[in-house]
Amino acid sequence: MTDVLAVTDHRRGELRDVSYEIITAGRELADETGGDLHLAVISGTVDEFADGLNREGVDAIHTVDHGEEFNHDIYTQTITQLYDELAPQYVVTPNSVNGLDYAPAVANELDLPIVTDAVGLETDGETLIATREMYGGKVETTNELEGDAVVTIRSAEWPKAEGTGDASIEAFDADIDEDAIGSTVTGFEEVGGGDVDISEADVLVSVGRGIEEEDNIPLIEELAEALDATVSSSRPIVDNGWLPKNRQVGQSGKVVTPDVYIAIGISGAVQHVAGMKGSDTIVAINTDPNAPIMDIADYAIHDDLFDVVPALTEQFQ
Ligand code: FAD
Repeated sequence: MTDVLAVTDHRRGELRDVSYEIITAGRELADETGGDLHLAVISGTVDEFADGLNREGVDAIHTVDHGEEFNHDIYTQTITQLYDELAPQYVVTPNSVNGLDYAPAVANELDLPIVTDAVGLETDGETLIATREMYGGKVETTNELEGDAVVTIRSAEWPKAEGTGDASIEAFDADIDEDAIGSTVTGFEEVGGGDVDISEADVLVSVGRGIEEEDNIPLIEELAEALDATVSSSRPIVDNGWLPKNRQVGQSGKVVTPDVYIAIGISGAVQHVAGMKGSDTIVAINTDPNAPIMDIADYAIHDDLFDVVPALTEQFQ
């Protein structure tokens, strides 16, 4: 019987969705090992975060009240010490910017194997089988790790844990070596696009190369405004400099899971679909009925965006 330690993620005072998804992933693993699921909540408003994360399936929550924002050294030191204290078999972290920052350092400190960006996890208690996607989701690989391991999970692959739990919540007395803290977050500066985080949006109006030129982008923005939605895009739009990088959906952009994703003039290349296939309802507007996006769309509008988009905007205004 061995335990699982899952690490939660937050930024600028807000828990990230993956913090709830990691509970589901961790619980599934803990059920397979027959052990407990421990959650680590490090930095930020830890008591408030711990209350919010006390969902069904969590056995124990360990809080470490040290600083407001993510810090590589604090996370690495804390998780290493929690591993020594709790002796879990698996340390599971989000495959987020933060997770990818500290997870390899933790694996290195603990001399454990690591698999990143897992989209599936299974164990028989001895061998961990982690599934990863390659070539933009065209093939899947299975990676077998013996014994203890560190694994980072992709966001939006596991459902969020629901239901109120009855986990114990305890402050963990981490022995932080302040002299070893080599960097500190002093502030945030958004790279264009204001404060928008498309991965948190409920409705996304996403624009692709079918829009033809930058001067046509306001058409999309007007529809987004009418729908109270957020604008996102495929990569060529960002590569052209028509929208900032934080609007890009896909393999080299962001993974999004809105209630509604409206793909306008987007073909549905595997690298794009990798970032939006978890959307609840997909609407595609495309002049090509054979575009791959039409196959995965719940509503496929086979028509010219320059006719459809203004008509939709008028309808919803
Ligand atoms: P296109 O493929 O050119 O599609 C345009 C679509 O618009 C077509 O389907 C066309 O029928 C339609 N259209 C044209 N005119 C109209 C009209 N008037 N009305 C309606 N429809 C119209 N791409 C991403 O998006 N995100 C990523 O993160 C990403 N990462 C990548 C990583 C790597 C390593 C590589 C190699 C590629 C990556 N790509 C990514 C690029 C990806 O392969 C595609 O090139 C890109 O997604 C295509 O963008 P698009 O659909 O906007 O353009």
